[in-house]
Amino acid sequence: MTTISSMDVSHILDQLNKPQREAVSAQAQPILVLAGAGSGKTRVLVHRIAWLIQVEKVSPFSILSVTFTNKAANEMRFRIEQLLGSSVGGMWVGTFHGLSHRLLRRHWQEANLIQAFQILDSDDQLRMVTRVMRGLGLDKKEWPPKQAQWYINNCKDEGIRPQSIEDYDDKTTRQLRIIYATYEAACQRAGVIDFAEMLLRSLELLRDNPELLQHYQQRFRHILIDEFQDTNALQYAWIRLLCGDQNPPFAVGDDDQSIYAWRGAKIEHIQQFSQHFTPTAMIKLEQNYRSTGNILKAANAVIAHNEGRLGKNLWTDRGEGELVHLYSAFNELDEARYSVSRIEEWVDQGGHYQDIAILYRSNAQSRVFESSLNEGAIPYRVYGGLRFFERAEIKDALCYLRLTVNRHDDASFDRVINQPTRGIGNKTVEMIRQHSRHLALSFWDAAKALVEANSFTPRAGNAVRGFLQLINTIATEIIDLSLEEQVEKIISASKLKAYYLKKDKGEVGQGRIENLNELISAAQGFHYRPDDEHADMDFLTAFLSHAALESGEGQAKAGNDCVQLMTLHAAKGLEFPLVFLTGMEDGLFPSERSTSEQSKLEEERRLCYVGITRAEKQLVISYTEQRRLYGYLNYNQPSRFLKEIPSAVVHTIRPKIKAWQRHFHLSKSSPKWKGTINETGMNIGQRVSHAKFGEGVVIDVEGAGKHARAQVNFDLEGSKWLVLHYANLQVL
Ligand code: ATP
Ligand code: MG
Repeated sequence: MTTISSMDVSHILDQLNKPQREAVSAQAQPILVLAGAGSGKTRVLVHRIAWLIQVEKVSPFSILSVTFTNKAANEMRFRIEQLLGSSVGGMWVGTFHGLSHRLLRRHWQEANLIQAFQILDSDDQLRMVTRVMRGLGLDKKEWPPKQAQWYINNCKDEGIRPQSIEDYDDKTTRQLRIIYATYEAACQRAGVIDFAEMLLRSLELLRDNPELLQHYQQRFRHILIDEFQDTNALQYAWIRLLCGDQNPPFAVGDDDQSIYAWRGAKIEHIQQFSQHFTPTAMIKLEQNYRSTGNILKAANAVIAHNEGRLGKNLWTDRGEGELVHLYSAFNELDEARYSVSRIEEWVDQGGHYQDIAILYRSNAQSRVFESSLNEGAIPYRVYGGLRFFERAEIKDALCYLRLTVNRHDDASFDRVINQPTRGIGNKTVEMIRQHSRHLALSFWDAAKALVEANSFTPRAGNAVRGFLQLINTIATEIIDLSLEEQVEKIISASKLKAYYLKKDKGEVGQGRIENLNELISAAQGFHYRPDDEHADMDFLTAFLSHAALESGEGQAKAGNDCVQLMTLHAAKGLEFPLVFLTGMEDGLFPSERSTSEQSKLEEERRLCYVGITRAEKQLVISYTEQRRLYGYLNYNQPSRFLKEIPSAVVHTIRPKIKAWQRHFHLSKSSPKWKGTINETGMNIGQRVSHAKFGEGVVIDVEGAGKHARAQVNFDLEGSKWLVLHYANLQVL
């Protein structure tokens, strides 16, 4: 008989509240902890594991814990070891993919794989699908490989194999089924598996090998799942199988934070849980330990606008804390500079960079922040995504630009000679490389020489000639263009957009297009003052070196004291003393695509709730009146979610910098902007009156003609930008 030392027990239950203790120390039975953000779900899960090991004397071998990211898994192991004061080997902690992969490596034979099976990432997968379809003699236009890939992955995510697809005499379905089956056979021959296959194959491995299943069911007596609200059908089936009838799962989640419906996650699993696993002990946690009262009130108020919630109310005893700060920025540069000034202030007052997160809806928004952080010499890290100038599509476009400047840039040549694909195969490229090696020529000169000597097959020769001509033509055509026009021209002439749209379906492809458009914005906003260090460079070269520098050293290494930049999706589960929730504009957040559909809008609102609840002490929300993003200048309304935050918890911040400074810093430096300040007929400092907003003072003017705008600080309504053409301001 084991005796439970009261030391162990009190140690683990010490810093938990009553329902948390109840969950951590519960008897073996299915448990579902359903609770809002920051109420200690992850903490409960970690303590539960420590409890099992230390008090129930469960072997770490019999514990399997699934979390959402690798980072979370490492963090979890670390926290458990801290609690126990010793290391826990043998425990399985990881993501669904990581754990499935582990099973397949161990049981490759039973899983019908070769021992050295390789994993296809989504690029590799598409190439494979394309090859298979070519083999089937399918026309790419009629049957875009990208769509077939999408179809295959969807089937796998739902656990469907080709043989169980009903075609109902539908020609398309029949064809897709053939592609799926042929692709499957090709992968099998090549000994490779894609991501979706990893989950499905491991599920089938367990399902079809009763002995193996029994072995693992007997081993993993304790299965714990964090972020349960975001599991998809396959993952849920995987859990049910491993639990069987005997192992009660311990799941924690929050229906209000379900943000992966677009990837097949189903909130219904939360509802089904208590039907599948009986009797389930439902435990609710309502005390939030993360955020101050004002932040929590904002979060509660926003999420209350969603329908069909399971319903809970978070409270805190930590006091109201600071108000939520709301900054109405003039544009995205102003937003970034303001954030940087707040970061400097925070650090001046003794805070650390690592206390801080900048959150945004879309990856492309990081660029301007990166730029301002670099300017301010503030260490930062873009988390869960590549830095802007390091993204594949951006690098492609920059390589084209580089080649127009310097034909002998071999790295650029190598990268884009067959990107987008133009029928130049590896063999041809290898010939060019060799020729360049032998004669010590640049790739460009080697290719030219080989074309002129007719050394390639006619097809390859034509393709290479076409590429050389393309670069020469672009180079000639862009000579007299402005920088942004040059970038635009290169993106269109290279056909990169069409290429990526076809290659990466859905959100990923769309994201790449947005990034390419954002590169045009970057060119538009690029400051070039001939009197600074770029003295004798042309615009394009200056821009390229700027891009190269920005992708270089700036980013701090993981673990260093640095500001973290990430999308709202990537911020799930994390917490920071100071959080910037940026780009709160309708059309951006909530995203344009979501506003017409209730369910999508609600998912955006949950994302907003996730964002707000990351903040511990201070939340700074910002939106811009005008934003250059994806190559367009937008005048968006403040996000509709802002109206859902009670004004009593908000402190609105007015721009501090003077009008002329703003103008100097924020306007573009291209010549056509010079001298426009006074064309509006408005003077800074002038008192004016407006029919609706009353009287105020002009604090900034910009633009000309129909686009002329003035910022007026109204006595009662605060500052607003007005288009003069419509505003009808009366000079007082
Ligand atoms: P999310 O929904 O964002 O994933 P969560 O419910 O998992 O949040 P945790 O991250 O576990 O919440 O906890 C939030 C913060 O509150 C953590 O810093 C945690 O250590 C702290 N915390 C939770 N419970 C307690 C408690 N009883 N006493 C002190 N601190 C606590
Ligand atoms: Mg958590």
